[in-house]
Amino acid sequence: MPAQEYLPFSPPCIGEDEIAEVTATLRTDWITTGPKTKQFEREFADYLDAPGALALNSCTAGLHTALATLGIGPGDEVITTPMTFAATVNVIEQVGARPVLADVEPDTLNIDPARVEAAVTPRTRAVIAVHYAGHPAELDALRALAARYSLALIEDAAHAIPARYQGHTIGGGANPVAFSFYATKNLTTAEGGMLTGDPDFLDRARMISLHGMSRDAWKRYDKGGSWRYEIVYPGFKYNMTDVQAALGLWQLRRLAEFQQRRRAVIARYQAAFGAHEEFQLPVERAHVEHAWHLYVLRLRPEATDVTRDDLMAGLAARNIGASVHFIPIHLHPYYRDKYGYAPEDFPVAYDAFTRMISLPLHPRLREEDVERVIDAVLDITAPVRLPKAA
Ligand SMILES: *Cc1c(COP(=O)(O)O)cnc(C)c1O
Repeated sequence: MPAQEYLPFSPPCIGEDEIAEVTATLRTDWITTGPKTKQFEREFADYLDAPGALALNSCTAGLHTALATLGIGPGDEVITTPMTFAATVNVIEQVGARPVLADVEPDTLNIDPARVEAAVTPRTRAVIAVHYAGHPAELDALRALAARYSLALIEDAAHAIPARYQGHTIGGGANPVAFSFYATKNLTTAEGGMLTGDPDFLDRARMISLHGMSRDAWKRYDKGGSWRYEIVYPGFKYNMTDVQAALGLWQLRRLAEFQQRRRAVIARYQAAFGAHEEFQLPVERAHVEHAWHLYVLRLRPEATDVTRDDLMAGLAARNIGASVHFIPIHLHPYYRDKYGYAPEDFPVAYDAFTRMISLPLHPRLREEDVERVIDAVLDITAPVRLPKAA
């Protein structure tokens, strides 16, 4: 049988409108942060009904800037989840604070509010919740904790555009929420990010994100702008370019259509895998709207001898892209060695990691691609019984 063509895990979905807008931007005299970025910030804030938005060059930049703007630093503790990409935790180290991990809920794999409360100390300043795979974390419980212990609540919404919790859009509130427009995310600008939140907080974050300079560069170089500026903080260089914003403007307009296609793929996956006891399916709690950035399937070792690694190898052999989200933070050498973590310190995250796989999920998947993935997974996991010992 000839090898089937490679089915990518999460390729970008760039249309002619994006390409035309990028080209048009490159033909103007303003290619870095300028009018297109301002327009993208406005349209993004409108889309989420957010009080304000600050466009940056990554979600990592958004999280780092948020911590710096809150004045979090040495001596402070920030509670977050082990089930995330390293960027969420790296930024806590970068401001000199101590990351404190709290294990996740077994069904959503989101940070468990009860574990957060158990981890609070007099040094705790903030909680960073990650909306894992696009399923909102339990914000009501986290907000109540933040209020009770006077903590800032930061949301890593890299997966959560667009998502809703109790009817409210993620990013629609006054606390800092960071989005990612990395190449694999639901909406992409190749690299990029957005921080939403209170306008006064974002004014200071904007200054900190651009050298700690008291005026935007584009205002300085604009007609009638002044050459004067003042450095009031040793800031970062995290601004978004108008070339990226040109992509984002059209990606935002196509987001509803992208999500519709994601949901159709999800419905098919859930029906196909739900019929077999070997699988633990992802959930969508009744009071949330899931952004379905990832489709994370877990094997049930009590029902199959096939391992996650068998499944990964089988899909690779069939030319199907797959991934694992995530290798828990406490298993990475930097964190493991610095804080002396053992795998079982966060048993829910560790157990999920050993049996999880992320299947292809993106708007360009055709019906036949979805069936190919399902057939491959069912074929690889078809009951394999070990011979009974004599
Ligand atoms: C992708 C991702 C990030 C980082 O986003 P960048 O835009 O690449 O900085 C942060 N957190 C999570 C959970 C992610 O998946």
